[in-house]
Formats: sequence, structure tokens, C-alpha cells
Amino acid sequence: AKDAGRNRLGRFRREMIMAAQRRAQLERDLRRALATRSLEVFYQPQFDCASKQLVGVEALVRWRHPEHGFIGPDEFIPIAESCGLIGELGTWVLEQACIDVIALGEHTGLPLSVAVNVSARQFRDNEFIEVVRNILGSTGLPAARLELELTETVLMDDVSRAAGFMHALRSLGVRMSIDDFGTGYSSLAYLQSFPIDQLKLDRSFVRPLPRDGATLAGAVIALAHSFNLTVVAEGVETAEQLAWLRAAGCDVMQGYLLGRPAPLEALRSAAGLAVA
Ligand code: C2E
Ligand code: CA
Ligand code: CA
Ligand code: CA
Repeated sequence: AKDAGRNRLGRFRREMIMAAQRRAQLERDLRRALATRSLEVFYQPQFDCASKQLVGVEALVRWRHPEHGFIGPDEFIPIAESCGLIGELGTWVLEQACIDVIALGEHTGLPLSVAVNVSARQFRDNEFIEVVRNILGSTGLPAARLELELTETVLMDDVSRAAGFMHALRSLGVRMSIDDFGTGYSSLAYLQSFPIDQLKLDRSFVRPLPRDGATLAGAVIALAHSFNLTVVAEGVETAEQLAWLRAAGCDVMQGYLLGRPAPLEALRSAAGLAVA
């Protein structure tokens, strides 16, 4: 038993070391990938629930690692945050997203919007406002077509600073969304304190629809509307979920049923598409 315990400990230690090594390697490689612009931005389409029209896209960053293959943002964004690369990465994604949505907008003839995820670290940097202003200026994207997605956790870090910062961003004309809404601890009180335009109903609320979860999802939609916010449903995977959301008055939807995140080129050829 003693040996088994020691073996477990040995294996645990080896796993810790391997995880640390992978992280250190990823950190080096991410630095290089950024420098050589070998990250990619994919776009997932968003559709208006009522008109079924394509209304926008969400920018989702991708990394194809030369050895490890595809690495998801859930793994490398935290690395970028902890090693100080998130500013550069976030700025690059934001600029690329603005450039691409202008192209997609011209291609489709629709004033499409683009939603860009903002990490905690980015949001904490006071220069972020200047970065956004400069990118809007240099790309020429009308501010109203840019949405910035923040999570509840980011806001709760420092409530009064966050509120002031959001007001400043919003005075540029950009729209502010709360991502993964309902998964945090503090969902209600802050709706009053923050200048928000939109809630993104987390896919954990969408998944059980329509058999279960209708009360919760319905309550979020009603709550959002009572605060004059629009609601985007995330993770729509079935026709039944789609029908339920449409009937419940949800504004915008996004999910694998309607379109997976894809390179700009793929969207260009699929664009013009409306949901059946
Ligand atoms: P998120 O912002 O909540 O993005 C939604 C995630 O759900 C994406 O994963 C998307 O591919 C996935 N998804 C979309 N539709 C469906 C569906 O119908 N079913 C299921 N099961 N999943 C769906 P992804 O692209 O792996 O991104 C993961 C997270 O990484 C994002 O979650 C976001 O928090 C973060 N992220 C992605 N791109 C960026 C970025 O450029 N900057 C920052 N700071 N974070 C990013
Ligand atoms: Ca998001
Ligand atoms: Ca989300
Ligand atoms: Ca998420």
C-alpha cells in the first residue's frame, strides 16, 4: 500500500512536470505565433430570430500549433494572459475582426456587426480605450457595428472602475455585451450599475430546451427586455431549441445548428444565407 501511494505520488509529480513543460513550450510558441501572425480568427454567424437574417458574427481566435495541432482559446488565452501577451493578441484579434467584418459587410451588402471577446487583463488596461478608438479610426468600421463581450467575472473585479470604463467605451459608440450570462454569481444587481446593451444567454441554459429549463431561459429573456437589453442565445444546436427561442422572443441566435465558427472565406461563400 505504501508503494502504491508512492507510485501515485510519483505519477502525480510527473504529470505536474509535464503540464508545466507543455505550458512553458506553449508560451514560447505562442510568442512566436503572434510575431509571425500565424494565429487565425474564425467567425461564427449570428441570426436575427424574427427576420432570420444574418446580422453579425462573433470573432473566435484559433491557433494551429505546428506539433500539437489545434489548440483551443480556452487553453491559450489564459497562457497569453499570464505571460503578458494578451494585449498584443487582443489588439490583433480586434483589428483583424474589424477589417474582416467590413469585407463581409461589403460582400453581403448587410451592415453586419462583429462581437469581440475581451479578456480580464485587457479590460484592466486603461489603454484599451485608446486601442479601440484607434482601431475604429484606422479600419473605418462604424463603432455601432462593434460589440465588446465581457464576462460577469471581469466586471465584478472592481465594480466602480468597470462601470466607468464601460461608459468610456460606450461613449465611443460601441455596444457592450455580457457573455455567458447567468453563469456568474451576481447576475442581477449589476444590470443597474453597468451600461450594457446586450446579454448572451449561456449555452448551459439553451441545452436543456425545450423540455427543461424553459422557466430559467424565459426569465432571462424577460429580464433583459425589461432592462431594454437585447438577448443573444448561444449554443443553439437543435431545431426545437431554435423554435422555442423564437417563440420566447429571443432577439439573436448563434450555434452549431446555424453555423460553426469558420474562416472568413467560408462565411463569404455561405453568406446571404438565412435560416429556414
Ligand atoms: P465564448 O465567448 O463563450 O464562445 C463560445 C464558444 O462556444 C466558442 O468556443 C464556440 O466555438 C462554441 N460554440 C458555438 N456554438 C456552439 C454550439 O452550438 N455548441 C457548442 N457545444 N459550442 C458552441 P471556442 O471558440 O473554443 O472559444 C472558447 C472561449 O475562448 C470563448 O467562449 C471565449 O471566452 C474565449 N475566446 C475565444 N476567442 C477569444 C478572443 O479572441 N479573445 C478572448 N479574450 N477570448 C476568446
Ligand atoms: Ca463570447
Ligand atoms: Ca459565451
Ligand atoms: Ca465561455
